[in-house]
Amino acid sequence: MKTPKFIFVTGGVCSSLGKGIVAASTAAILKSAGLKVAVMKLDPYLNVDPGTMSPFQHGEVFVLEDGAETDLDLGHYERFIDTPLSNLCSVTTGRVYSEVLSEEREGKYLGGTIQVIPHITDKIKSKVELAAKKMGVDVLVAELGGTIGDIEGEPFLETIRQLKSKYGTDVLCQHVTLLPYLAGSNELKTKPTQISVRELRRMGISPDVIFCRADMRIPKKLLRKVSFFCDTEEEAVIPAETVDSIYEIPLRFQKSGLGDIVARKLGLGKLKFRLKEWEKGIERMKKAKEEIFIGLAGKYNELDDAYLSVIEAAKSAGFHLDKRVRIEWIDAEKIEDKDPEELALLERVHGVIVPGGFGNRGTEGKIQVAQYCREHGKPYLGLCLGSQIMAIEFARNVLGIQDATSEEFDEEKKSKNHVIHFIPGQRKIRKKGGTMRLGAYPALLTKGTKARKLYGEDKISERHRHRYEFHNKYRERFEKEGFLISGVSPDRSLVEIVEIKDHPFMIGSQFHPEFLSRPFRPHPLFRGFLEAILKQSKSKKA
Ligand code: GLN
Repeated sequence: MKTPKFIFVTGGVCSSLGKGIVAASTAAILKSAGLKVAVMKLDPYLNVDPGTMSPFQHGEVFVLEDGAETDLDLGHYERFIDTPLSNLCSVTTGRVYSEVLSEEREGKYLGGTIQVIPHITDKIKSKVELAAKKMGVDVLVAELGGTIGDIEGEPFLETIRQLKSKYGTDVLCQHVTLLPYLAGSNELKTKPTQISVRELRRMGISPDVIFCRADMRIPKKLLRKVSFFCDTEEEAVIPAETVDSIYEIPLRFQKSGLGDIVARKLGLGKLKFRLKEWEKGIERMKKAKEEIFIGLAGKYNELDDAYLSVIEAAKSAGFHLDKRVRIEWIDAEKIEDKDPEELALLERVHGVIVPGGFGNRGTEGKIQVAQYCREHGKPYLGLCLGSQIMAIEFARNVLGIQDATSEEFDEEKKSKNHVIHFIPGQRKIRKKGGTMRLGAYPALLTKGTKARKLYGEDKISERHRHRYEFHNKYRERFEKEGFLISGVSPDRSLVEIVEIKDHPFMIGSQFHPEFLSRPFRPHPLFRGFLEAILKQSKSKKA
């Protein structure tokens, strides 16, 4: 088997420059030429994985097929390259150290002194090599989190240096920096970039390609200046100017010749890049003018990153239907307090998404949101927690089970009706903070349901991240009153999708469809949700 090529993406000057998008775009360009690619994230923080990190601080937890809980950048990677990634693609300092330390406890180092170099760097190296090998790729793109100069990043930079010295021209280093604008002199400045590259050099790494971020057009002469001072080929200094949509970036980079530069430097031969699908997709996005307002009733209001995949999925479905989705944040706690402005907002939005979530906060308000949507025929899409909310609302207000709730919300065990509960027998493995039902599981769809129609197939596979489930003892009562179980696990023991009969669109999934939505191929549930909204607004206009 031929050896894979490696591309490392580092960032300098400051954080939030979009290194993840640079990594994903580079990979997307290479994939368009028929190469097998994967993208991995090297995260210098000490958490073992992002599973327990607060979405407040760190954005959403993205879940892979194999159940790995990862940084939201992995979501960008999958959306850009449309290839399922694996837990091998997410490496943190915490994981690296915990493996090295447990090996030390097992006596694997035979009493030797354990050091950052070589033990930690060897472990990182083996993880990068393993990811490339197991994913069977031609090119592995690896993004290093953080900014050059971060203490935590140093072992990773040293590893990149070692890999470069081991694999030579099979390794390419890309560096993303910022050209800040100074209003006083009305110019973009290159000095921070020069210093950042100098810092990179101090670690033994010379960038082969530099991406210059700026919020305005970068004059050619500045790109030349960066090239001159940073000793990087002129054509390999790529402008990365802010654009309306991140999905324009592969096209922009390719216009600057990125694919050919990478192919030449890595010795990939003559490649033919085919970005037609991207061009068509962007054209469509630009054409979409009419707006659809979607209420998002989550816990982390106004925090786009906490619901990144949900928002991306809704937008993609919108563009697919030539519409522009606008997110309106609905504060469930305000709904609970009967705040008139919030209630008016709920009335105004065209449809509501209740996304995934954990814990009790705002749940009563979300139940009221679900009730409003059910009673007023407003399209509702419940994702994981949102589907559980739907069941609780139905139990209380249609079946008359006043104390219906989820075991999760009832710590004091006051209710006799946990319509959502821990599965008996799995209690031990699903302790709080411990194992959840994670990753892709198959589900069978019920004939005649909306869900079955939308998917267009009987058997699906979707990604999960939850502890609680619909309680089977209530199934019959629910179904009798029009709360349909439209999808179940293959052994029929778990409820996977539910829907309200005779409602324009009220569907809840126990899984997270947003993780499988792609920019130019929206997920059937999101598409169906928006189609239902459009149908309503057409009939209102008529
Ligand atoms: N908290 C709920 C559960 O654990 C829902 C989880 C989620 O929405 N991801 O089942």
